[in-house]
Amino acid sequence: MAEILRPSPVVAENPADERLHRKRQLIAAFHLFSKFGFDEGVAGHITARDPELLDHFWVNPFGTSFGLLRVADLILVNDRGEVVEGDGLLNTAAFAIHSQVHAARPDVVAAAHSHSLHGKAWSSLGRLLDPLTQDACAFYEDHGLFDDYTGVVLDPAEGKRIAYALGDTRAVILRNHGLLTVGPTVEEAAWLFITMERSCQAQLMAEAAGTPVLIPHEQARVTHDQVSAPGAGWFSFQPLLHRLLKAEPDLFD
Ligand SMILES: [Zn+2]
Repeated sequence: MAEILRPSPVVAENPADERLHRKRQLIAAFHLFSKFGFDEGVAGHITARDPELLDHFWVNPFGTSFGLLRVADLILVNDRGEVVEGDGLLNTAAFAIHSQVHAARPDVVAAAHSHSLHGKAWSSLGRLLDPLTQDACAFYEDHGLFDDYTGVVLDPAEGKRIAYALGDTRAVILRNHGLLTVGPTVEEAAWLFITMERSCQAQLMAEAAGTPVLIPHEQARVTHDQVSAPGAGWFSFQPLLHRLLKAEPDLFD
């Protein structure tokens, strides 16, 4: 039986336990994204690679509310974009983007994308985030910019270009679109999305108010390494998860 609360980000030895853990964390992430207001209509998807079928991923079905999703609602999608487990529609954009990110990055277990307000506002500037704050240093020299916009991403070839812009970093700003974050755990990908969205908000606010002072290169690099240690993203997600489970004790039923 997979534990509800995991004491560390270590992967379970039993694939069934690991699968259940990833699916539960996806549900927690969706409910948190809903609470943070990251959902907008039918946009947005968070995926988790299956621990056994490595070219398959679990994702939210198209057209369902983040805040109402349950573990049983998640669908499993193969590398051809076919739903092989679960009922529900697959968002073509979710497959086009996430299949290519998962294929390009074997180290990535999860990828998160939504049309969150400050992320999409920042994305319209076509700029990388600056090291304005300690939190923003999580992305210092560790995110990419997809400096193009061609319409809704429906073609895996476009997803491949996004994966290229992501490179070996932890996030990519999709110009005129929004943010996408990745992680070695669902918890980290979700946490990075939350903190990146807030870093976008902070930079928008700071630049609207004046001329912010940047953290110098060396200090930004040191801070990046401090806040990006292995497991740090997972750890940062835990207080949010605990509060969510307190409010919704049946979240994983
Ligand atoms: Zn999108």
